[in-house]
Amino acid sequence: RRAEFAAMRDLPPVTKDDLRVTLMVNAGLRDDVAALDVMGADGIGLFRTEFQFLISATLPQRERQQRFYRDVLEAAGDRPVIFRTVDIGGDKALPYMNSDDADEENPAMGWRAIRLALERDALMKAQAGALIEAAGGRVLNVMFPMVSEPWEFEQAHALFEAQRARVAARGKTLPLAIRYGTMLEVPALAESLDLLLPKLDFLSVGTNDLTQFLFAADRAHPKLAERYDWLSPAILRFLSRVVRQAKTAEVPVGICGEMGGRTLEAMALIGLGVERLSITPAAVGAVKAMIRSLDAGALRARMAEWLTNPPRDMRATLTEWAEENGV
Ligand code: PEP
Ligand code: MG
Repeated sequence: RRAEFAAMRDLPPVTKDDLRVTLMVNAGLRDDVAALDVMGADGIGLFRTEFQFLISATLPQRERQQRFYRDVLEAAGDRPVIFRTVDIGGDKALPYMNSDDADEENPAMGWRAIRLALERDALMKAQAGALIEAAGGRVLNVMFPMVSEPWEFEQAHALFEAQRARVAARGKTLPLAIRYGTMLEVPALAESLDLLLPKLDFLSVGTNDLTQFLFAADRAHPKLAERYDWLSPAILRFLSRVVRQAKTAEVPVGICGEMGGRTLEAMALIGLGVERLSITPAAVGAVKAMIRSLDAGALRARMAEWLTNPPRDMRATLTEWAEENGV
């Protein structure tokens, strides 16, 4: 199988009925970028910038961040990299950053990510400046974590635009364009999506956090981690609505949670209409092989029926469909 996956590297992720899926990888370290070549992926759909902050003993200064982002962009070549601004706080606390608050009881739902970044905006400004300078002469793709309401996106967007003006005023080379997106991982954002979509260049659904918030089940809890299935009708229906809405608004939409790295789940996502996946690098070969054996149109027709009238066991039904259809 290993040799089979290696041979997959140079083949595009195209379904049997000619749907070209954009298959990207999740990354966080400079060396992860090498996976693009090894796996034959289309780009980095989620670059978790907090890794650099978490592995550092001190707050990475702007110049150091900038060098790092430039290295990542250079290693990626002409393939896109979507940088996610820092998702720190809560359970990913930085030892060198003192929190004003006492310990949190529910850090995953706490003062983290965009919530922290908009308040401690010196951190976000330094990161924005570093990303903008690092992407001089290229397209910069940036997205924000844990956005729950449109104003959070708008404020983060304005902060980046102000930094762009500052970089321009200093006579530096600007990015050719800045494309702004957001993660959708807090269910509440789905209820405001119609208001936000016109302002977005792309949308990326984070199924790790989304699942724990939809089911009110801690993703790190050993007793709960396996309890709710990613293939449950609640999740599939939720995702189906979000994907349809984004496509109607002509905003590219992808999935970047771990769900997309499992072959059966990835198949189900394509069945929902998803055409962009960002997955763990180790899963690229298997997911690509699945895509190349799939008739997406046939699955989409069945999926529409299953969403209306969910079978008792969606996982078993999908597994059976895959077997019958040679996926
Ligand atoms: C997610 O929540 O699905 C996601 C991709 O972000 P992270 O796993 O970094 O929280
Ligand atoms: Mg998340």
